[in-house]
Amino acid sequence: MVFDYIVVGGGSSGCVMASRLSAYGARVLLIEAGPDTPPNAIPDDIQDGDPTRAYLNPGYRCQSLHATTVRGGRKPVHYEQARVMGGGSSINAQVANRGGPGDYDEWASSGATGWGWEDVLPYFRRLECDLDFGGEFHGTNGPLPIKRVRQSDWSGFIRAISDAYDALGLHFRPDFNGAFGDGYSVVPLTNRNGHRVSSAMAYLPETVRSRRNLTILSETTVARLTFLGTTVTGVETENKSGVQSYSASCVILCAGALHSPAILMRSGIGPAKELVQFGIPIVADLKGVGQNLQEHPTICVSAYLKPADRLSPGVSEYIQMHARYSSGYEGCPSTDMAISTVAKSSWHPLGRRLGTLAVWVNRSYSTGTVALKGSSHKI
Ligand SMILES: Cc1cc2nc3c(=O)[nH]c(=O)nc-3n(C[C@H](O)[C@H](O)[C@H](O)COP(=O)(O)OP(=O)(O)OC[C@H]3O[C@@H](n4cnc5c(N)ncnc54)[C@H](O)[C@@H]3O)c2cc1C
Repeated sequence: MVFDYIVVGGGSSGCVMASRLSAYGARVLLIEAGPDTPPNAIPDDIQDGDPTRAYLNPGYRCQSLHATTVRGGRKPVHYEQARVMGGGSSINAQVANRGGPGDYDEWASSGATGWGWEDVLPYFRRLECDLDFGGEFHGTNGPLPIKRVRQSDWSGFIRAISDAYDALGLHFRPDFNGAFGDGYSVVPLTNRNGHRVSSAMAYLPETVRSRRNLTILSETTVARLTFLGTTVTGVETENKSGVQSYSASCVILCAGALHSPAILMRSGIGPAKELVQFGIPIVADLKGVGQNLQEHPTICVSAYLKPADRLSPGVSEYIQMHARYSSGYEGCPSTDMAISTVAKSSWHPLGRRLGTLAVWVNRSYSTGTVALKGSSHKI
């Protein structure tokens, strides 16, 4: 079968690509390794406003990924990445979290022309239907609803933390995704009426799926790219019916920050020295593939709460407050650190009694590497 575009990975970005490209008549094939979430059969745990239900379902996660740290000699740990239609947006914490203007401007000045803040802002506006804010920073007609937790729904725990921030000189900023700077805010969520809205729900509704020029294959893994010489001609896939090849004028990798370089490497595009040890024929010896991975390491600290400080019954949003602050390290910008404050830490009875501070590095300087463990394409 021949297509104009093959989109590899039906995650946060892949659903957008498939939807937008097929809107103009191009023949598009979207291939997702995990299960589909069609509009008439979205699993309850994915729709739930409580993100931990989907996140803790192993059926929606890759099982084969491991992370190791160079320092500290720790054992490899499971690396959590989605494997389901909607990708991360089907299992994540639903926080509509924009990068800061300085991050994008740094990309542009490093050579990523067209990715500066003024360049990307129109696309942020276009993707969202902000239910609280308009103005220069926000869109009101996009497919992805964004709503904020109300301050009146904050639990006693959250109010106590906000008082502590004020006492430290870190003040309230109503719009977390507007004018950036140190401060704390109510959390913007990709959620409507208490239910998650994933990229698949927003960009692949029935009206899009019924386009005759859009084909969606779920539970199908792209094993590798196919080539004529050094030109990509399509992909080789595997699913329970067997191995299949599809051709396209253009293949777009949307398999995430870990799997996109892994697919390139399995296809022979990457550091030749590493790939030959797995018997992978080299198409292009490119040392940069798999390098400069960035993550935001997080540490969670939980507290057992007095009954009066717990989340009120009937309030479903429990990641209630976000703060950005400055580490104060020389050369680091403001907002390089972040804290999420969670009024209820899981759906079970103990989780309801725990409040959590999740502290993470918002602007990381350390980088890592994505490397293959073998030539297998199982994810
Ligand atoms: C647990 C968790 C919580 C998070 N919380 C938040 C949050 O609250 N707010 C926020 O802004 N961000 C959050 N993130 C990050 C956010 O979800 C990701 O940045 C985003 O989903 C990345 O989009 P992507 O399209 O690049 O990749 P993904 O959304 O990961 O999509 C990649 C897709 O490709 C598929 N795929 C991979 N390899 C293959 C293959 N060989 N063949 C076919 N398909 C393949 C995968 O199954 C997956 O569906 C979170 C992420 C995780 C894992």
